[in-house]
Amino acid sequence: LLISPLIQNLMAALKCLPGVGPKSAQRMAFNILERNRDAGLRLSALLQEAIHKVKNCESCRILCEETICRLCSHHGRDRSILCVVETPADVLALEQAGGYRGQYFVLMGRLSPLDGIGPDAIGMGLFQERLKEGHIKEVILATNPTVEGEATAHYIAELVKARNIRATRIAHGVPFGGELEYLDGGTLARALLARLVV
Ligand SMILES: [Zn+2]
Repeated sequence: LLISPLIQNLMAALKCLPGVGPKSAQRMAFNILERNRDAGLRLSALLQEAIHKVKNCESCRILCEETICRLCSHHGRDRSILCVVETPADVLALEQAGGYRGQYFVLMGRLSPLDGIGPDAIGMGLFQERLKEGHIKEVILATNPTVEGEATAHYIAELVKARNIRATRIAHGVPFGGELEYLDGGTLARALLARLVV
């Protein structure tokens, strides 16, 4: 009752963001209204513009303003290798790591039948179209090493192999700069399984 309806609505709306609970929402709302009104206006204008203009690339599903994103239309990228990731943030991470010169396919999630996320929701129709183009020689499955990420990788690998295309999985194991004694058993076991000849 102490808080006006408009402020209450703003707090409720802010809670739609990941990691924002009632306390953070309250802090954000008051911060904007008390001393950050210009930044708040800019935020609201940019939100509107981004939501209206940003869409999914029609080739890899990454978020972009163009019909076909810059990575997909870049002439310097190797069209014979396709790397499958869960989110646009994963593409950024791989690009920042450097060393990969192929193309991407972004699932925008992972298979999760219990949550109603099936093959259609992760773009498998479009993915199959990409495989049919004929120039892809290898698909790298770079989904996360979680139960759902592994299941998704397995599912996609079957589709890829059915078209006689090579399917590979990114290695998981000992992090660079890490120490064996602090690793969890699952990671260590996988590192042993994925060992390389030196
Ligand atoms: Zn693209």
